[in-house]
Amino acid sequence: MKPVTALIHHGYQAPPDFSAPQVAVHKASTVIFPNVQAMRERTWLDKKGYTYGLHGTPTTFILEERIASLEGAQHAVLVPSGLAAIALTNMALLQQGDEVLLPDNVYGPHKTFAEAELKRWGITYQLYDPMDMADLASRIHAKTRLLWIEAAGSVTLEFPDILAMVQLAKDKGLWTALDNTWGAGLAFAPFDLDPSSVSGRLGVDVSVHALTKYPSGGGDVLMGSVTTCDDGIAKQLKLCHMRLGLGVAANDAELVLRSLPSMELRYRQQDVTARALATWSLQQSAFAEVLHPALVNSPGHVNWCRLCAGDVPASGIVHTEGLAAGLLSLRFASQFSQAQLDTFCDALRLFKLGFSWGGPMSLVVPYNLPDMRKMAGDSLLQGGFVRLSVGLEAAQDLIEDIAQALVQAGM
Ligand SMILES: *Cc1c(COP(=O)(O)O)cnc(C)c1O
Repeated sequence: MKPVTALIHHGYQAPPDFSAPQVAVHKASTVIFPNVQAMRERTWLDKKGYTYGLHGTPTTFILEERIASLEGAQHAVLVPSGLAAIALTNMALLQQGDEVLLPDNVYGPHKTFAEAELKRWGITYQLYDPMDMADLASRIHAKTRLLWIEAAGSVTLEFPDILAMVQLAKDKGLWTALDNTWGAGLAFAPFDLDPSSVSGRLGVDVSVHALTKYPSGGGDVLMGSVTTCDDGIAKQLKLCHMRLGLGVAANDAELVLRSLPSMELRYRQQDVTARALATWSLQQSAFAEVLHPALVNSPGHVNWCRLCAGDVPASGIVHTEGLAAGLLSLRFASQFSQAQLDTFCDALRLFKLGFSWGGPMSLVVPYNLPDMRKMAGDSLLQGGFVRLSVGLEAAQDLIEDIAQALVQAGM
């Protein structure tokens, strides 16, 4: 054998019984079959074999199983982003003539996807007020097929009554899909929303998760997952996933696998820091409103208590029990100008201007709510608005950063 051939077909094989704390990175487009029969009988649907890199390798199968465990699900598929997880769920479950319901505070690009893509395929959508069950019920018609839920809502962080929504959807024969990026599988169990129930498990049909956020934890990977406990839905998702060619790269899967063991520690730490910032912000006259579900005055606080804090009543203005993601939003007093708000954001030194969350670095994004919300109350739409995403820095440093930026902006 010439060296050039030996470099490809080498006689030495490493012994197979290697074991180490981290999962191996298996990279492949081509997967090699031992014989023709194995090639003809190939299947990847039940994770008992491999067919082609796009449909899974040991690395991605292992990550899928761990994400399914995190969410309390039976099945998971991985996709290249959280947004792709949203798109896949819609495409796998809906068909021409169907209607889908989205909360008014849904993740922004999901609204755009429904408006610009689903509509072209003959699938309509309606927005509903996530804090008004009567509004939601009034929007369910014969062609409504799927109810999307987000808790807490994007940017404004209202916490809806998920239990009541899932119950309503079941009564009306709708599927429910939850964008569980905020809860991350830690704050509550999407497939067992009422663990005290004796009449059986009540959960959503599908949970999507932007693994880009907490599971990655580094601000350096894009990935999403779709999980379910339903075998039929799982098959629909997997087949649609295959046909759309939505595989993920093994190196990206490796990064998420490496971060998963520390995920709960990071989530808890960012939660503690975010609540410290929220408590401090409540005392600052520059802010007309502080939004965080653990704050007694935040919209849907009681729903959050019930689902994430064991229904324990709060003893102060900030609940200290339960779990919440490290996000808070601040509405500025209405006397401040847009220019002052921009100066505030530019003056922050530790909070960087950037989208996403769940990474080590704190981030800030200014939002113009009147462009984003149809159903928000008038008071919410007054004054400038920023969302803070808390990183892993010390809380005191972050508080001092906000304080100095308020001074620089003359607030
Ligand atoms: C970030 C995010 C997504 C999208 O995730 P990407 O990986 O950035 O595409 C979806 N839903 C929510 C609630 C998010 O915060």
